[in-house]
Amino acid sequence: MHESNKSLSTFNKIFVLILFALFFFAQHSSLILANQTSAGKLFIFSLNDLHGYADESNSALGFAKFVTGLNEYKKNLGATENNSLVVAAGDMYQGGFLSNISYGDIVSPFLKSIKVKVCALGNHDLDWGIKHLRRWERDGGFKFLSSNIRSGNGESICKAYKIFNISGYKIAFLGLTTVESQFTIPYSTLKNIGGVHFDDPTQTTKELIQKIRSSDAPDYIIALVHMGAMQDSANGSIYGEIEALSRIEGIDAIIAGHTHTKVAGFLNKKPVIEACSYGKCIGALEIDTKNHTIKPMVKDLYAERASLLPNKNIDDLIKANNLKYQKEINTVLSVSSNNLDYKSLSKYFVKKIFDDLKNDGKSVDAVIINGGLFRTKINKGDSISYKTIKELIPFDNTLVFVDISGSDLAKAIHHTQNMPNQRKEGAFYTNISNITHNKYYKVAISSFMYPNGDWYDFSNAKNVFDTQTLLSDLMLRFVREYGIWSTCYTINFLCFIDHMEIGVL
Ligand SMILES: [Zn+2]
Repeated sequence: MHESNKSLSTFNKIFVLILFALFFFAQHSSLILANQTSAGKLFIFSLNDLHGYADESNSALGFAKFVTGLNEYKKNLGATENNSLVVAAGDMYQGGFLSNISYGDIVSPFLKSIKVKVCALGNHDLDWGIKHLRRWERDGGFKFLSSNIRSGNGESICKAYKIFNISGYKIAFLGLTTVESQFTIPYSTLKNIGGVHFDDPTQTTKELIQKIRSSDAPDYIIALVHMGAMQDSANGSIYGEIEALSRIEGIDAIIAGHTHTKVAGFLNKKPVIEACSYGKCIGALEIDTKNHTIKPMVKDLYAERASLLPNKNIDDLIKANNLKYQKEINTVLSVSSNNLDYKSLSKYFVKKIFDDLKNDGKSVDAVIINGGLFRTKINKGDSISYKTIKELIPFDNTLVFVDISGSDLAKAIHHTQNMPNQRKEGAFYTNISNITHNKYYKVAISSFMYPNGDWYDFSNAKNVFDTQTLLSDLMLRFVREYGIWSTCYTINFLCFIDHMEIGVL
């Protein structure tokens, strides 16, 4: 009995040893595997155009799932704390309601949690004035970068570049901001900083490369830019605002933002990535230090959202913020002093957009908004809150500028006036009484209308520019600033615009 117990115990010991050896080997072999695949490699992960969309929705992944998606992606590639870095390519704050309502308070802790170290300054990062930039940098643990933007008095708004040491390699990130920012930076921001000046991105970059090379001799220089890239879905060719940058000698790769596109490929032999928008994708540059190659990649996290578990800490933070702002979401901003149907709302809106752009020094010749934008009516005595506005415009679009000929403008106005029943609630406003056929006019429209929405034809438009400003956010601001419902009485435009006749020369 004693003997058999002993032999059993020996057998157990051997069994445990074998198990331990197997377990160790499994662990060890996976380590060897990870080291083999990621040996000599560095990884730069990027996100752009987050626009403050903290919650998961039909168009956004949500911060909590992004954290999980990024961590899994890192693990699969063999990226570690030591051989990787996370960066952002701008427009991180403005857009989502939790961010808008708190001036970005929800975004910084998220960026800190995924350890973003530098962020290209986006045009919309200036929407609420430069006073927020320092706070966001401090709370988010990162630095904004842009070398080509200066305030009116010539001062830099943020750092031009920053160098990191990753696994013994010096990597310089050089920031740039799109010159299209001049269309979106609000007047209030410009006034505070005495205007804004954009240096030529190409020239600035060339000079900066010389400077960085002589002072710091980095192993790699990466352009981290809020300047757009586009990629042809058929042949994969890349084009856009970053084109000139791709020809500059000394830049090893480009991380782009601004156009909300999914881009991964080469332009003039330079690797280029852009990672969609609203946290839907994650971009990656895999730097092979031995072969001196850089592989551009973009992973679509949104496509896998069903299988991504939300990160608990970030999820809790978002839930707590939603609770915190419940009251503010429902706070009454204005009380309607009139019954407003869809048509009246549209007329109010186009006139307000027209005036607002004029006040901002970005005058347009006309504003046209399609019918179907407003989906609820307002009755006299109704309380208007943040929630009301978001329900008023549930299918949101952005404001787009187009340059179109007089004949195309006349056609678009005629089209608005002669829409079939369900679409007739669109409206236009212009201060031109006689349109000249061959002259070009700057017109503000909705992003729905531009690609042939409601059969509007803007196919001949020039200088098309999407401000990425949501129409619901514009409406919200108008209600906050002017109190929508009394405006009809003070300006009285609701009563005359229907009868306005536009002549065509
Ligand atoms: Zn942008």
